[in-house]
Amino acid sequence: MKTKTILVTGGGGFLGSHLCDRLLARGDEVLCVDNFFTGNKANIYHLHDNPRFEILRHDVTFPLYVEADEIFNLACPASPIHYQFDPVQTTKTSVHGAINMLGLAKRVKAKILQASTSEVYGDPEVHPQVETYWGNVNPIGPRACYDEGKRCAETLFFDYHRQHKLRIKVARIFNTYGPRMAMNDGRVVSNFIIQALRGEDITVYGKGEQTRSFCYVDDLVEGLMRLMDTADDFTGPMNLGNPNEFTILELAETVIRLIGSKSKIVFKPLPENDPMQRQPNISTAKSVIGWEPKVQLEEGLGKTIPYFRKLLNQ
Ligand code: NAD
Ligand code: UDP
Ligand code: UDP
Repeated sequence: MKTKTILVTGGGGFLGSHLCDRLLARGDEVLCVDNFFTGNKANIYHLHDNPRFEILRHDVTFPLYVEADEIFNLACPASPIHYQFDPVQTTKTSVHGAINMLGLAKRVKAKILQASTSEVYGDPEVHPQVETYWGNVNPIGPRACYDEGKRCAETLFFDYHRQHKLRIKVARIFNTYGPRMAMNDGRVVSNFIIQALRGEDITVYGKGEQTRSFCYVDDLVEGLMRLMDTADDFTGPMNLGNPNEFTILELAETVIRLIGSKSKIVFKPLPENDPMQRQPNISTAKSVIGWEPKVQLEEGLGKTIPYFRKLLNQ
């Protein structure tokens, strides 16, 4: 069989770099496209000598003319502090980025997967979230650049599918963590681990009663690859995440215990529009791709803590 060329946008980021690793290990050619806004070249240094790996510094809001058999569209800042830093650019990345990658997929007849998000459900009134739920999103709030950008990207994917017969796959990714998250990422798992390792206060926003369901990166990447390989008539959307739900306070206590830290928990204001609960219903993933997460929270934290410890000791 001919070697496939896979374009990974956002390939220098947390999830994208793990995906590049797995695709190369499978024997694919990988073209990593990233503008390194939140990505880090250190995430992909180890791939430089691989003759099947190529990096292109490029912003997906501009057109891109390359060849590929499959496209994983992951380019987009994912952490609230980063996507709210330049919200207009965030919307452009999701919307113009999707248009450009869909235009590219149309021209070269590539199959294309969108890294969508549980944020399309907003602050959900249906719990756990099923793919048929339309969501509860504030279109003018501080999270809207990300949530609505991702919702519009989904719309574009489905319209290119209906109008131009593109082969599309939409993954709705729930909170995922693991090695290669940036030190300044700002999402909860990396914040808590870094604070606990430094012995600093653990910053719980609100009362910490809000919930999230945390998926380890290896499980998530496996799900993305399986979704890409589904039959052409399967589009998703498909929830990918770990259904084990925790309060943020429980997460803080677990991190403190696993690290044996002396850190104290302090409470900070809850950011505006912060969703109160989140848990994926993964029956679609179970039935269509035979997937469910294998790594549970304590084991996954056990794999992530040494990564941050090493970074802090550098
Ligand atoms: P990340 O910030 O580590 O990675 C995003 C990558 O996209 C970075 O390398 C960044 O430099 C790049 N990028 C941003 N804007 C770009 C642009 N305009 N052009 C080219 N590259 C650009 O975040 P991540 O956690 O790896 O997330 C990857 C994708 O998965 C994102 O699309 C995110 O929305 C989605 N997602 C992630 C999670 C999660 O919990 N990690 C949850 C839901 C959805
Ligand atoms: N595009 C791209 N690479 C390609 C083909 C298209 O970046 O290989 C961009 C181009 O900027 C275009 C967008 O994708 O505006 C949408 O392409 P499409 O063919 O759907 O629309 P059109 O070119 O007709 O506007
Ligand atoms: N959070 C927190 N302390 C932090 C960072 C985040 O309590 O230092 C909370 C945040 O308010 C949210 C949850 O943890 O309720 C998950 O936040 P994150 O930014 O990781 O992801 P998202 O809100 O996008 O799910």
